[in-house]
Amino acid sequence: MPELPEVETLVRQLRPLVRGARIERASIIDPRWCAPQQPAAVAAALTGLRIEELSRRGKYLIWRLEGGRCLLQHLRMTGVILYDPPQLPAHLVAVLELSWPDARGAGARRRLRLAVSDARRFGTAEIFDDPRALERHLAWRLGPEPLEGSFSAAGLKAALRGRRAPVKALLLDQRLVAGVGNIYADEALFRAGIHPARAAGSLTLAQCEALLQALREALLAGVSARGASIDDFRHIDGVRGSFQDRFLVHRRAGQPCPACGGQIEKLRVAGRGTYVCARCQPPPRRRSAGARAARPAPER
Ligand SMILES: [Zn+2]
Repeated sequence: MPELPEVETLVRQLRPLVRGARIERASIIDPRWCAPQQPAAVAAALTGLRIEELSRRGKYLIWRLEGGRCLLQHLRMTGVILYDPPQLPAHLVAVLELSWPDARGAGARRRLRLAVSDARRFGTAEIFDDPRALERHLAWRLGPEPLEGSFSAAGLKAALRGRRAPVKALLLDQRLVAGVGNIYADEALFRAGIHPARAAGSLTLAQCEALLQALREALLAGVSARGASIDDFRHIDGVRGSFQDRFLVHRRAGQPCPACGGQIEKLRVAGRGTYVCARCQPPPRRRSAGARAARPAPER
């Protein structure tokens, strides 16, 4: 699933290309994309409006349109956005036809297509006519942005206080911190030397500081590698990201730990395949809630 670095990559690629373009026509092929809103109503709400800004919040893309209307898009598992593809992709869910005034003037317009495809079709889109309603919607669902100063080690420690759930489960909770998914949770916990099954409330302030720093390092490494393509994630020109070639532990079961040479193991924590070096990330004592949550994962 695209996480913060993957969505940030798309926004950075798309923003300069779409800002100022007019949506000439919107075609919604799969009604699940915008459910429960009606495809015809969503298409009509988009048509004719200029795109003023494209930004990211957590794993969401926010398309801000003229007049204050917004389209909130989430790629979920397998959503892909292609900019002017030579042919429409498989698993097409929506197409936006964009136009700009042509430099040659005389009313001519340059046109191209933005295609949204989604093999598993969990991706979503929702229209907000009032930007304040969008802010409330996001504030309810998302905690602070991890790369911003509002996310602090003291704030993290306070949020984890008394929580017996595995620390990885809380990193995946978008209300605690926005944008982190399975890849970057594993990479950050390894960098911080913290076992993912540790009871979240047992982390010291120093460990929260290390985790915050590690999370930022892992996310920024992901952004600079233009995201990870372990499954369907693609850039707007269909090219793969490269962060999967730089993973320290994620998806590296049986391979040597880059820090100590020990063997990386795959566990199941918080219901997700989880990769650790047990030497660099000491497991919690048995009988804690966290330890019960960690079981060896079946080989696959
Ligand atoms: Zn190690």
